[in-house]
Amino acid sequence: MQTSFTLAQLADPHVEEAEKILRKCVHCGFCTATCPTYVTLGNELDSPRGRIYLIKDMLENGRPADAEIVTHIDRCLSCLACMTTCPSGVNYMHLVDHARAHIEKTYKRPLMNRLTRSALAAVLPYPVRFRAALSLARIGRPFAGMFDAIAALKPFAAMLRLAPARVPAPSAVSKPSIHAAAGSRRGRVAILTGCAQPVLEPGINEAAIRLLTRLGVEVVVPKGEGCCGALVHHMGREDEALAAARKNVDAWTREIETGGLDAIVITASGCGMTIKDYGFMLRLDPAYAAKAARVSALAKDVTEYLATLDLPAPAKAPGIAVAYHSACSMQHGQKITRLPKDLLAKAGFVVREPREGHLCCGSAGTYNIMQPAISAKLRDRKVKNIAATGAAVVATGNIGCMTQIADRAGMPIVHTVALLDWAYGGPKPKGLVDAPIGVAAE
Ligand code: SF4
Ligand code: SF4
Repeated sequence: MQTSFTLAQLADPHVEEAEKILRKCVHCGFCTATCPTYVTLGNELDSPRGRIYLIKDMLENGRPADAEIVTHIDRCLSCLACMTTCPSGVNYMHLVDHARAHIEKTYKRPLMNRLTRSALAAVLPYPVRFRAALSLARIGRPFAGMFDAIAALKPFAAMLRLAPARVPAPSAVSKPSIHAAAGSRRGRVAILTGCAQPVLEPGINEAAIRLLTRLGVEVVVPKGEGCCGALVHHMGREDEALAAARKNVDAWTREIETGGLDAIVITASGCGMTIKDYGFMLRLDPAYAAKAARVSALAKDVTEYLATLDLPAPAKAPGIAVAYHSACSMQHGQKITRLPKDLLAKAGFVVREPREGHLCCGSAGTYNIMQPAISAKLRDRKVKNIAATGAAVVATGNIGCMTQIADRAGMPIVHTVALLDWAYGGPKPKGLVDAPIGVAAE
């Protein structure tokens, strides 16, 4: 694609980067076919190509964002299916990240929209506040319908509906700690605690730590780590995202330089995708660029790290059919496609793949709150495809997808690592205890 930025514009490294990305796009439109919002809404401006044109126009003309571009960029899930499809290697992720930051700086959103976004940014990344908010949401849940009546309040209805009926007690593994390897140590890793996941489902990291230590890996929960910054990053709140990234880089760098780390293990693929991008996000910060690049290179989804270990034969052969739902941040963001399925199959599960596996479930960070109508359509489509597999349980590697699908799937939804922990001698995942799981008919 031809661009016409001036030399003065290109002196800004963010614009320079955006221009490089824009020039790669050849307007072929292959990406439209796999874009969930284009597939759902059928509007070119809600396709990757349409958004790329809007962003190009805004940046080239050096103008502030307007309501039209905000509408179509806000509808983008950042699922990155377009990047998987694009034959020209267009880095849509970095382009839309920059567009979101530009919107945040140049556009004044309507009051309720601003307040909702600020509330989400002030609560979700902080486990104590998030836990308190969920307790309140539980009380308010029966009144969700009242908020549906006013368009600007629909995000509150979505929030109340997404709040789980029960919030688990905090887990000891969410606190800074060292979990010793069983037997002789074959590796040492840090594990990300994160923000929303330890509140919604602390059992995920408990399972990961049990499994890794049983396999001879020491696991450290470093002091000072926190939210990866993805939630605010996707809102265009760049300073907050970079502050979160720096805090984690500091925590892991201390650990790398003292005990040493073979990997930084992440059990939420949305966070993994962002941490793997820290090197790019902090590239212009001389004090952090090298450290952030080192952290990104060490970041591994838990299934990536497990695949590097020589796993023994499973302790039991569960033999149940598992529908594997690949989170967008896993398959498109991190390009991890086969590993989780191979690990599940090796552990004795019968893995089934839902149709349209490339399409987002509509979770996408705060998308299911801010864009509830599109999100619900995508969720229903996803749930239908999962149900058609006839599986007994859904496995996935991202807490956002688990929350999105949980109430509708008609079957338990469990983190991949919890199923693996079970197969390799750990307890049966909590979600399965009361579920009528049968041996899958093949
Ligand atoms: S597939 Fe890639 S090159 Fe083609 S229009 Fe989409 S982003 Fe541009
Ligand atoms: S990130 Fe997803 S929703 Fe956004 S343009 Fe790409 S395919 Fe469409």
